[in-house]
Amino acid sequence: MNLATSGLTKSFGGVCAVDHATVEFQDRKINAVIGPNGSGKTTFFNCVTGMIRPDSGTVSYQGRDVTGKAPHRIAAAGIGRSFQLCRIFPRMTVRENVLAAVRPRGLAGLLRSAHAADDVERARGWLRRVGIDHLEDVEARNLSYGQQKLLELAGVLMADPETIMLDEPAGGVNPALIDRIATLVRELNAEGRTFIVVEHNMELVMSLSDHVVVFDRGRPIAEGPPDVVRADPAVLEAYLGV
Ligand code: ADP
Repeated sequence: MNLATSGLTKSFGGVCAVDHATVEFQDRKINAVIGPNGSGKTTFFNCVTGMIRPDSGTVSYQGRDVTGKAPHRIAAAGIGRSFQLCRIFPRMTVRENVLAAVRPRGLAGLLRSAHAADDVERARGWLRRVGIDHLEDVEARNLSYGQQKLLELAGVLMADPETIMLDEPAGGVNPALIDRIATLVRELNAEGRTFIVVEHNMELVMSLSDHVVVFDRGRPIAEGPPDVVRADPAVLEAYLGV
């Protein structure tokens, strides 16, 4: 089994952001995590990827307990992630941004920030793949928001992760680039990568995902294929308060 949590819990002061969440994601599928604002999706992501240490519960990946491990160890285990507010270096070029996602090899590399020629080639390859290789020498701040998301994804792909967690990949992105991101996710999934996507754009969630997990008040309240989840009365209640 791929990625799973059991009884995962995280409170901030009196607010229980993630409340005994037990979730199993489907291996080599596109999984979506949806839920109203404040339902704990980002905190859940942060606990899984080591950005936040959970108060209790466990996270396991490929049969190994990775609970509370540091983000770089989670990444080394094969889980890559993007952020809701894109994390890039605005004054570095597109190419430098993708290269910043890998550690320069050896002491000399660390001192000079030198990158091996094969890293540069791989960076170019991913930039080509996400469709922004023509912007290689442009400073990242000059990209549109959607292009910045593609750049962030190229950086994530440099680590060749088996599992990719995307936090709102379509948020603030124009429709043409949403299509590009969706196509890329489908292609990368067809090549064997597992996706876990937090997304508010319901049309995208319904068309993209194989498996949907719905959060409400820190807990998963429903899961299943998109059309089943969409018709679930508990989900309608969480969203509409009916
Ligand atoms: P979502 O991603 O579904 O919008 P969040 O995980 O961001 O939900 O938030 C869940 C709850 O936890 C909210 O009530 C939010 O205000 C609270 N919360 C999240 N992060 C913090 C924090 N760092 N400090 C205090 N409260 C937080």
